[in-house]
Amino acid sequence: MAKPRVAIFDFACCEGCQLQIVNLEEEILDLISVVEMVEWREAMTEHSNEYDVAIIEGSITRPEDEERIQIIRSRAKILIALGACATIGGINKLKNNFDLNEAKRYVYGRDASLPHLETAMTKSVDEVVEVDFYVHGCPMERRDFVTILRAILAGKKPDIPDYPVCVECKAKENVCRWEYGEVCIGPIIRAGCGARCPSGAHRCYGCRGYVNNPNVAAAKDVITRYGLNVDDLKSKMVLFGSKQGPTNE
Ligand code: SF4
Ligand code: SF4
Ligand code: SF4
Repeated sequence: MAKPRVAIFDFACCEGCQLQIVNLEEEILDLISVVEMVEWREAMTEHSNEYDVAIIEGSITRPEDEERIQIIRSRAKILIALGACATIGGINKLKNNFDLNEAKRYVYGRDASLPHLETAMTKSVDEVVEVDFYVHGCPMERRDFVTILRAILAGKKPDIPDYPVCVECKAKENVCRWEYGEVCIGPIIRAGCGARCPSGAHRCYGCRGYVNNPNVAAAKDVITRYGLNVDDLKSKMVLFGSKQGPTNE
């Protein structure tokens, strides 16, 4: 059987998720031996317009990005969104909370009007084209990446958690960050990171996006119990959850 041809493309991002692929070290050698890498700007010079699997890092932030992702989608049988920038728009979506011209002036100063610095509201990849698989996290979770790639190769459905970070956090017997007076959004964020931040004495920032059916009512109950209000919760969702459903509810 021919090896699946795999191409990796980057859009607006820090490229940290691609770095996580490189960081797979020995495992990446195993994976690369069962696929044919045809494009990966960070690691090789070759290009190809023929691929079966397209892996997309980064969010869509310019009109020309939309055209490019649509062309990639039309060529790929399977499209994977890699990391928070691609899966949920990521930190780039913070821009959507401001007037775009003001944001450009703040970032680029007197160069803001140069034509190559044109910008638009940030979108996640699935706000433009259909996405088949999501590798969540900022940076992406290497274990999820391997699980999804192996499932694709085996023709199976990958098993990615769809329950809240709190489940993993409680299994680790962490003291809840709410007990320290912090607003942790773990109750509505997808698990799979092993509750990395609460285990390291930080609240969850929401980088894996919302679980498919976030229990917003339960989250509201929690904030009431701790004497806070919905705006306190919303303010903690802005970093990774700007312009998403529950943020504005
Ligand atoms: S998800 Fe995070 S680590 Fe990955 S490219 Fe975006 S900002 Fe970088
Ligand atoms: S610290 Fe956060 S993730 Fe952990 S139990 Fe509390 S709310 Fe849930
Ligand atoms: S705890 Fe929250 S912010 Fe931290 S890695 Fe997990 S999902 Fe991301």
